[in-house]
Amino acid sequence: MRIRHHPDDALMLAYAAGSLGAGHRLLLDVHLEGCAACRQRMAQLNALGGVMLDELPPAELSPHALERVLARIDAGPGSLADAPRTSTVVGEKPWLPVAWPAAMSGCEVGPWRWMGPGMYWNRVVVPDAPQAKVFMLRIGAGRMLPQHTHSQSELTQVLWGAFDDGRSEFRAGDFDETDGSVRHQPTVQPNGDCICLASVEGTLRFDGWLARLMGASIGM
Ligand SMILES: [Zn+2]
Repeated sequence: MRIRHHPDDALMLAYAAGSLGAGHRLLLDVHLEGCAACRQRMAQLNALGGVMLDELPPAELSPHALERVLARIDAGPGSLADAPRTSTVVGEKPWLPVAWPAAMSGCEVGPWRWMGPGMYWNRVVVPDAPQAKVFMLRIGAGRMLPQHTHSQSELTQVLWGAFDDGRSEFRAGDFDETDGSVRHQPTVQPNGDCICLASVEGTLRFDGWLARLMGASIGM
């Protein structure tokens, strides 16, 4: 499986510094688990972070930030994706055509719920961060999500299948970040369902009233 879309450096640095929200962090964890290239980049960024810390006067960083970066560096390269959150006992997760990512092992995932014709969703509850807006979407072959933009940022990791939103095609293993500069309508490729994990900060802004109603009912 060749991965073509990866998190950018700004997102990777925020992850390394421990400054990402819980939902976005989970998305990065799931991507890193499946992407050797990004695990390698993350190890380099962590090493770079160590050098930068050595050169900064201590007052430039809050004690909390320093602690977080040091904890990341102590964890060392490779350990980021090797440390699934297994501390929470979890009920049965719904069936997936692929293995559940280890990074999601501590998450509670509800049953698939109907969202529209050929569209299902469920809520993913992140351990210790129940407020994080993380969802899974399962969209049927050839179906399209309502057109929308984003008040802040949305991260998407494709777990199964593929979609195209006019900017590019995203396949299993690919990662996407969108914000208010992107208005798109993801359309699933005709050869099969697509399952994605998504983390939303802010809200999605749908174009039509029906879509807005749907988004509101889901809490997006
Ligand atoms: Zn990657």
